Amino acid sequence: MKYMTVQVVTPDGVRYDHHATYISIRTLAGDMGILPDHVNIIAPLIVHEMKIRRIDDENHVDWVAINGGIIEVRDNFVTIVADSAERERDIDVSRAERAKLRAERKLQAAQTTHDIDEVRRAQVALRRALNRINVGSHR
Ligand code: ATP
Repeated sequence: MKYMTVQVVTPDGVRYDHHATYISIRTLAGDMGILPDHVNIIAPLIVHEMKIRRIDDENHVDWVAINGGIIEVRDNFVTIVADSAERERDIDVSRAERAKLRAERKLQAAQTTHDIDEVRRAQVALRRALNRINVGSHR
């Protein structure tokens, strides 16, 4: 059976490394489904969940929270380089809930003072927290 080697790499190390028959991921241009023998590409990613169907268990799906970064697909090797990424089983959902509340409070305060930079920072933090909560709920 054809497969791809999928690796997610962050400054903290390799966060995911498996053989897969299918992955889905969200790039800046939109959602992508990737099968073996996909054309070679490099694309920027947005904060979203990656879904992976592994070769060793067709009925099981892995989820990884990808916090932005870049995907490269080359000759059935899929490499995702991200500032941070967490598998569903590694996510501390209560920590993400606290991060969400903090980000919501910061967003509200920044909107009140019209601090555009702080609004953007809070929006990114909120997106990361919501993504982790979503991925953590797949456990
Ligand atoms: P927090 O405010 O909770 O620290 P953050 O969005 O500021 O969240 P990051 O700077 O994106 O955190 O990540 C710092 C490190 O902590 C990374 O290694 C990331 O994988 C990890 N991390 C962040 N949030 C969680 C979480 N809810 N569960 C597990 N690991 C997390």
